[in-house]
Amino acid sequence: MTTAAIEHKKLFIDNQWRDASGGRTVEVINPATEDVIATVASAERGDLDAAVAAARAALHGPWSALSARERGRLVRRIGERLLERADDIARLETLHNGKPIFESRQIEIPAAAECFEYYGGWADKVMGETIPVKGNYLTYTLREPVGVVAAIVPWNFPLLLAAWKVAPALACGNTVIVKPASQTPLTALALAEVAAEVGLPAGVLNVLTGPGSSLGQAIVEHPGIDKIAFTGDTGTGKAIMRSAADTLKKITLELGGKSPNIVLPDADLDAALRGATTGIFYGKGEVCAAGSRLLVDRSIKDQFMEKLAARVRKMVAGDPLDPKTRYGALASKKQLETVQRYVATARQEGAALVAGGDRLDIGTGKGYFFQPTVFDQVTPAMTIAREEIFGPVLATIDFADLDEAIARANDTQYGLAAAVWTKDIKKAHYVARKLQAGTIWINTYNVYDTAAPFGGYKASGFGREMSAHALEHYTQVKSVWVDLGM
Ligand code: NAD
Repeated sequence: MTTAAIEHKKLFIDNQWRDASGGRTVEVINPATEDVIATVASAERGDLDAAVAAARAALHGPWSALSARERGRLVRRIGERLLERADDIARLETLHNGKPIFESRQIEIPAAAECFEYYGGWADKVMGETIPVKGNYLTYTLREPVGVVAAIVPWNFPLLLAAWKVAPALACGNTVIVKPASQTPLTALALAEVAAEVGLPAGVLNVLTGPGSSLGQAIVEHPGIDKIAFTGDTGTGKAIMRSAADTLKKITLELGGKSPNIVLPDADLDAALRGATTGIFYGKGEVCAAGSRLLVDRSIKDQFMEKLAARVRKMVAGDPLDPKTRYGALASKKQLETVQRYVATARQEGAALVAGGDRLDIGTGKGYFFQPTVFDQVTPAMTIAREEIFGPVLATIDFADLDEAIARANDTQYGLAAAVWTKDIKKAHYVARKLQAGTIWINTYNVYDTAAPFGGYKASGFGREMSAHALEHYTQVKSVWVDLGM
């Protein structure tokens, strides 16, 4: 398994690469080899002040001086450049996250590039309206940028989840500070390189690396930042909401999930088996919308579970840099320990382990690999049915009829996504309306498109990313009244 030599990466502020003012750094680890692959600067309050000043100067200066169409062209250019550099950026994504290069190169980086292409197209189509008010007035609205946006991003899809925020923010005329997760800062820094390469004016996009507890917190409290676009843990989201109240920042929160994947007895069972497997094991289960609760009708469950367990036992983990690998390493030691803890708890609480359950060695004696794991006979009260594990662990729960399936599916604090497998079109749409989640998949799982909104119900957060809906979160509306009385 080859890894890059140790590199040192700086902060990107006002189109300049700078070391952190305090001189501190954070190590980046390859979770598949446990090697240190880079050190990155750890930004402090003074660096944040500099980034905010640069972002604000660009907001009122060169960025606002461009026409919407020119802005859109630059946003699209970022997408094109990401694709031109897809091989090297995908490699970085795999090195710091542990996901297979197949996923980085074929899915995530192209999706991030497409997001910039999509929102670049929106830039000159964000319009106001004229309003038929009473009296002799011309009344119209302007849709203006919100200002300086901070994008706080987790470690599971480091480039894609940054793109979901940066692309609409820039298209609408905002300037941005990106803070990637400490474990996975390399592709956000590559995005900064791309921004400079395509000629984005200085200060429009800044990238600060550093810990969430200090740098993240300072961002949320900073009076010079107008909006926080956050993806991450529900607990962190709540803390951000509380801290952001003091400066009345606008916030959007994309948080955790415990998404149900419901198999009705009339489903195409082979398709449902594939959907149940990819639903939880794509991205090693470190996917906010992972189908981590499998709900199967009691009449077909034994047969379904036998086939599912056989299928999962055949899954092979491998070197994430090998193009043939489809299942990689968990993103960090901490994440591995979390998964191990949940598996132990599930066993203690009486769930039946039918596949996996242990740490894996791919022959190197290194890396945070964990077997794809399936539990049967999970009851809705068990810990693994209620808490987000954010790893490759599937909890299977049965149900007696459609009403019980819907009730059990909705019996969670979360509401990010849900799926139902059935050949009955009426039942499918009935269930889609009853499920409390921001995305419903019918006879499929884990499909996304930049044109379709994504976001949570309940404790999975609020606001929508992607699609035209995201534009609302990156603009504010101004009413203008003109007296036409003669
Ligand atoms: P996390 O909340 O620990 O960290 C996310 C980001 O917030 C990181 O950049 C971190 O440094 C920063 N941060 C941490 N504490 C902060 C604070 N007090 N103030 C400001 N910033 C802070 O989450 P994680 O462990 O990196 O990511 C996993 C979580 O993300 C899971 O719960 C998962 O479901 C969720 N997620 C949600 C979506 C979605 O779209 N809804 C997508 C991916 C991941």
